This record gives sequence, structure tokens and C-alpha cells, in this order.
Amino acid sequence: MSSQIDNCPHCNANLNGDPIPENIRQNYSGTHWRREMGWEYPEKYDGVWEWECPDCKGRWPSQAQVIKNKLKGAKNVKTDSNI
Ligand SMILES: [Zn+2]
Repeated sequence: MSSQIDNCPHCNANLNGDPIPENIRQNYSGTHWRREMGWEYPEKYDGVWEWECPDCKGRWPSQAQVIKNKLKGAKNVKTDSNI
């Protein structure tokens, strides 16, 4: 699972890492390692809930969080980064 963005929304750092070796690439989605770190909050969701930039430590919501917030009908999608 990836964050599906190429640059940090905070500092614009490129989140693509080194290329994945071709002999194991079939096991991964994409062609490069990802540099961002995934945060999981089991009480909220079984999977990555937030991503963290390795450079600026800024966080942004995962696709799962965005979708879940939409399903809830939340009008104000706000990320609490102080969890
Ligand atoms: Zn950043």
C-alpha cells in the first residue's frame, strides 16, 4: 500500500526512494521504495491511517482515512496530528 503521492504535501520532498530490484519488484506495487512512514491506529482502522514525511516529520491522512471520513459524511475533514 502506498500513499499514492510523489511529494510531501508539507515540504515537497520527493517520497520515491531507491528503485526496487527487478527480481523482487513483482511482489510490490510500484517501481521504487517509498520513503514515507505509515502510522497505524488499530482503534480507528486496520491499516495505515496516516503517513509521515521522513524529512519534515509532517503528516497527512492516508487514502483510507480520507475515504472513511467521506463515508461518515464528515464535512470538516481535519487531521489531528497530535494523537
Ligand atoms: Zn515533508
